[in-house]
Amino acid sequence: MPYMNIKSLSLNAFEQWLVNNSVKPYRATQIFKWIYKHQTDDFQAMTDISLSLRHKLAEHFIISSIIPAHVQTSTDGSKKYAFRLYDDHYVESVMIPERNHYTLCISSQVGCAQGCAFCLTAKQGFSRNLTHDEIVAQVQMVMRDLEGNNLPLKNIVLMGMGEPLANYQNVVKAIDILINSTYGFQFSTRKVTLSTCGIVPNMVKFSQDSPVQLAVSLNATDNQTRDMLMPINRTYPIEQLLSTCRNYPLRPGRRITIEYVLIKHINDGIKHAKKLCELLRGVYSKINLIPYNPHLKSKFERPDDSSIETFQNILIKNNYTAIIRQSKGSDISAACGQLSSEM
Ligand code: SF4
Repeated sequence: MPYMNIKSLSLNAFEQWLVNNSVKPYRATQIFKWIYKHQTDDFQAMTDISLSLRHKLAEHFIISSIIPAHVQTSTDGSKKYAFRLYDDHYVESVMIPERNHYTLCISSQVGCAQGCAFCLTAKQGFSRNLTHDEIVAQVQMVMRDLEGNNLPLKNIVLMGMGEPLANYQNVVKAIDILINSTYGFQFSTRKVTLSTCGIVPNMVKFSQDSPVQLAVSLNATDNQTRDMLMPINRTYPIEQLLSTCRNYPLRPGRRITIEYVLIKHINDGIKHAKKLCELLRGVYSKINLIPYNPHLKSKFERPDDSSIETFQNILIKNNYTAIIRQSKGSDISAACGQLSSEM
């Protein structure tokens, strides 16, 4: 009989399998705890499960994993992991050290179909969606690598390769496991952020299906520029996107993060900053300004520091929270927009 990957099952589906095999369904939570919370990949290590059930599980299931094929460390301490998947595709995750914790940026697709003009992932095109267990496995493997380290992994951001809302079901399932406190990783819902290029119908759905934080990659203040930078804008233009943000149901104390990649002579002028202030009226938000990270396959340039500061000051003077995010890991091509799995 072919083996099934136990991680491909939801808790409900696994409970049903147990019932069909004359085992009490509550065992499912116990076994998932071993797999996700204690991160075991061996049924024999599940010491509170009877020997006969452990054997039965091993006869029917495997506990899948992904393999870190390359790990590169940046001079600033960031680490980029390239994971090889079962079908020889690769995805990348980036672990970023902060003052008292780590942030991990994970991928949701192999490549990406959205074609954003400034993004290296876009250049490789789209190969396939990651399964929910491949998304979770990136977190699991990095946690293993961090074992014994002083700083905890606290933040998870779905901002790596791929558009998470274009792989909706798998992403929502993966997030469920990351925040689940019974058998999952128990990450705080405030500390998990999904970043989207603006697939409006799925943003609305996501607000109902998941309690984690939302970030929206805006990057332009007029439709002509945004059409050029982000083709999704031709389907869901700025007005529609920001109206969705304005009406996005937020929990108390939460804000949407607006990401704005600053690109020299494209969207970094004083007029752009002023327009951004107008556009964001009524959007309960904070703004991350990300100076563009140049890469060989792009003609765009990073603005100089004085334009970046001027841009930020205009937002601050208009009472917005605007933070300049210097991307880490640019020396190992791990900064924002620099991920690619073409080996
Ligand atoms: S920026 Fe994000 S959505 Fe756009 S092409 Fe790159 S990975 Fe895809």
